[in-house]
Amino acid sequence: MADNNVFLAAQKQIRLACERLGIDMGYYEILKQPKRVIEISIPVRMDDGRIEVYTGYRSQHDDTLGPAKGGVRFHPSVTVDEVKALSMWMTIKCAIVGVPFGGGKGGVNCNPKNLSQREIEEITREYIRGISPIIGSDKDIPAPDVYTNQQVMAWMVDEYSKIKGYTDHGIVTGKPLLLGGSVGRNEATAMGCVITTMEALKKLNMSLDEATVVIQGFGNAGFNLAKILYEAGAKIIGVSDSKGALFNQEGLVPKELLEIKKSKGSVIYGEGEVITNQKLLETKCDVLIPAALENQINEKNACRIKAKIVAEAANGPTTVAASKILNERKILVVPDILASAGGVTVSYFEWVQNRMNYYWTDQQVNEKLEKIMADAFQNIYQMHEEKSVDMREAAFMIAINRVVQGLKLRGL
Ligand code: GLU
Repeated sequence: MADNNVFLAAQKQIRLACERLGIDMGYYEILKQPKRVIEISIPVRMDDGRIEVYTGYRSQHDDTLGPAKGGVRFHPSVTVDEVKALSMWMTIKCAIVGVPFGGGKGGVNCNPKNLSQREIEEITREYIRGISPIIGSDKDIPAPDVYTNQQVMAWMVDEYSKIKGYTDHGIVTGKPLLLGGSVGRNEATAMGCVITTMEALKKLNMSLDEATVVIQGFGNAGFNLAKILYEAGAKIIGVSDSKGALFNQEGLVPKELLEIKKSKGSVIYGEGEVITNQKLLETKCDVLIPAALENQINEKNACRIKAKIVAEAANGPTTVAASKILNERKILVVPDILASAGGVTVSYFEWVQNRMNYYWTDQQVNEKLEKIMADAFQNIYQMHEEKSVDMREAAFMIAINRVVQGLKLRGL
């Protein structure tokens, strides 16, 4: 198996969980691929007058426990296999935290760094026109992911509402507050990762205010993680973005780095030593947080990871083979399907608030998020100890068990 094919990786993880649970492998046959995948072509008139045609996808893996749910990414590495795998992980993620959704994911193969705001808006609107027959607030609800944000969600609401002839805020989550967004959604992925990392630290008798942290990626998750952890007293000794990585044993200040990134284009212009992304991952630290893309920790570098805890804020940052190595090396992994589930959890809160048309406070959101994430961590940790399986396997077993129970109750 190509170690970096995320679709094959997701299948392997689901198969292993089914085998460990000893369930009828017919259920694996159901869950080993998405229920529905749509591929659309997205023609756009570019600012210079040319027509460019992009390819977009939406994959709905499973809707046993509720409507499909998951983000949409705009990135040059998007493929149909990637979107399928990400939708499978969404099913697992939602089942772990117990939000009543199935798994979906979308993507457009494009590079937003080379596009104007108007071009991104055109791509977004055409994408929504293309997938509108299969989405809906009771069917499949998109959200932000890599290189999509609140503004993109606002365009999605607008385009979908125009098609329907009425404003439908519940069609996507991760919206601006003014258009039915929830407080706390923007920081939710980071927050969920912080809560589960704190639980992991407790298991090792460590505390956040004496921990050194390395974060790969400085997008929505990466920056907010750095900010929250820094404010909680942790020392951020390494960060990175697509241009490179920065190391400083004395500690970095996230808000300053954000300003530098805004003015100069990258965090590498901050105070410290510029190092490669590879070296960043291999830095000696207490907590390593991959918060960028897939396959960052692989067979080649897993034996050189020096962190005590790896908390996966990205989706699929560790390959199947690397996961085994980390486990053998007794590194405590907070798997992606748990560590990154804060985003979809607050998306669920947003969707509920949209249905009620009644909005919660910061405190209400954060208390509920904290309980869900901490409980999910404890359940997984308990399974990990009881069954002597690694944290990722434990998480998959809990999730698959719930989905399969749902399938049985519904009659399959
Ligand atoms: N894209 C995020 C994820 O991968 C959030 C999905 C959502 O809120 O639906 O978990």
